[in-house]
Amino acid sequence: MTQIYNFSAGPAVLPKEVLAQAAAEMLDWHGSGMSVMEMSHRGPEFISIYKAAERDLRELLAVPDNYKILFMQGGGLSQNALIPLNLLGHKPDGATIDFIHTGSWSDKSIKEARKYAHVNVAASSTTAVPPQAEWRLTPGAAYLHMCTNETIGGVEYDVSGNQPDAGDPRLAGVPLVADMSSHILSRVIDVSKFGVIFAGAQKNIGPAGVTIVIIRDDLLGKALPVCPSAFDFKLVADNESMYNTPPTYGIYIAGLVFQWLKRQGGVAEMERRAIAKAALLYHALDHNDFYETRVAKSSRSRMNVPFYLKDESRNEAFLAGAKARGLLQLKGHKSVGGMRASIYNAMPIEGVQALVDYLNEFAAQQR
Ligand code: PMP
Repeated sequence: MTQIYNFSAGPAVLPKEVLAQAAAEMLDWHGSGMSVMEMSHRGPEFISIYKAAERDLRELLAVPDNYKILFMQGGGLSQNALIPLNLLGHKPDGATIDFIHTGSWSDKSIKEARKYAHVNVAASSTTAVPPQAEWRLTPGAAYLHMCTNETIGGVEYDVSGNQPDAGDPRLAGVPLVADMSSHILSRVIDVSKFGVIFAGAQKNIGPAGVTIVIIRDDLLGKALPVCPSAFDFKLVADNESMYNTPPTYGIYIAGLVFQWLKRQGGVAEMERRAIAKAALLYHALDHNDFYETRVAKSSRSRMNVPFYLKDESRNEAFLAGAKARGLLQLKGHKSVGGMRASIYNAMPIEGVQALVDYLNEFAAQQR
């Protein structure tokens, strides 16, 4: 059988080892006689799974003690509503939320937030992270929201703290809210620079449905009265994500992914691999005039690589040839067209190399 490489943006490739372990444990988890799907979320078996997942994620991201990790449901988009619902309780007389707009996902966040507050788009660009000197922030804003990796457009912030970025001390006092859905666990981050980090699971964590929220303690307990109880971060935190039934099977798979990440060498190792994989792919795209990319080099995503064939009439032939080689799900998002290769943690460098070989061969055939 042809080796398959899945470049889907999400739900996305998971480590084979994790899938094999889940398959082996499917009918009888650790001698319990049950599948994880069948367990009470309050029983000792599932509680042990949950606690290990929480502890491992905390270790992988070096989450400080004054932050809670919540395992919620609803996906990334629901957080666009749940964050204002949970943070604006102390600003009843009209809050302003600042946003940095860098593409489709921050755009969706902006539109949703307008239901709850006044919104100021402090800076906007869909081809590069706007330089921080140009951000027009609102004094006294409730918080500043950014999508640190735009999955569709491929614009990624340097959230390392090494460059003028989201962690700049000038922002002290304004909680930073970051949608890290499509690059969480792919690079080292300083969690203490953020007020809230959220991520849907279906890229670097596990199956769709699980949604991770990492929130600083002092931001809990500020929900608007209309905030649904099951989505009130304080209630969820006080009940260790079990105010209602959490997405148990998804949490179990996420926990297996966290163990896999630890065995690989953790987030620093994932970052090293991501740099190598992205460099390989962008180098091939940059050195072949059959292709083009549209994001400024300084802001190129290491996870989601959108690219275009200069001759778009060849798109279908490109995708058909890719599929025949086992290179799947390379079609770009419908809103932007072209191609996109998502190269998350579970994509081996061999997959990127196979794509690079195909890019070169396809271009050569067309000449
Ligand atoms: N934010 C980002 C950056 C995303 O990539 C996505 C999904 N691709 C979402 C939010 C929305 O997530 P969901 O579909 O889980 O609501």
